[in-house]
Amino acid sequence: MSWIDSHCHLDHASFEHDLTAVLQRAMDDGVSKFVVAGTAFHQWDNQQALEQKYPNIYNAYGIHPWFCDLHTEEHLEQLDDRLDDAIAVGECGLDLMPNKPDIEKQTFWFEAQLALAKKHDLPAIVHSVKAHDLVVRSLKKVKSSRGVVHGFSGNMQQAQALIDCGYFIGIGTRLIKTHSDKAIALLRELPLRHMLLETDAPDGMGKDVRNEPKELILVANIVAKIREQAPETVLDTCSQNAKELFDI
Ligand SMILES: [Zn+2]
Repeated sequence: MSWIDSHCHLDHASFEHDLTAVLQRAMDDGVSKFVVAGTAFHQWDNQQALEQKYPNIYNAYGIHPWFCDLHTEEHLEQLDDRLDDAIAVGECGLDLMPNKPDIEKQTFWFEAQLALAKKHDLPAIVHSVKAHDLVVRSLKKVKSSRGVVHGFSGNMQQAQALIDCGYFIGIGTRLIKTHSDKAIALLRELPLRHMLLETDAPDGMGKDVRNEPKELILVANIVAKIREQAPETVLDTCSQNAKELFDI
């Protein structure tokens, strides 16, 4: 079984000088497939170049809600063209934290990308921060039936609403680092067959620390400890889920 980091940003500038070493460290620990989620149009060529260089990088292309104001409808056409070579659409979604683009605008870009995912029969990679109910509303409106809500930070009831839409729940460093009662309760209850593991590297480890895909093992260890299961069981099942969702 090759373990899969189901969400990272290896096209980020912080990996520019040592990505080969970063990937090797991950592979030495058994993490050997990497799903790179797109964030904005100006990164798409860079992502494509990485995929050509490294055969175990798999690209999703999309427009992150934080950056939707940088885009015009022409970019949606460009995205449409790129999706023939993609494993998913995203990351797209909704974010209700302060100082983010207007929620109506975010919703337009989110639903437009969900529609593209349907058109190309691809799963969607969804970013949802303090917006789970609105995300579910958009998924139902567009009849989106396949994807993952990555870096999930909600409770089991919110997770179940997403599972009912056919979505996986992406568990990463951010949730497990909180050690909140809510996070622990979710990790105990959420069935493994609905869970994906991710690092969100270089994010997810705090402000000044660059996260790396090898930390997927750390995520799995913490999830396994809370669930009183073997880390390999968590890694195997979640990687199998990712393999099926993204067809990689
Ligand atoms: Zn991300």
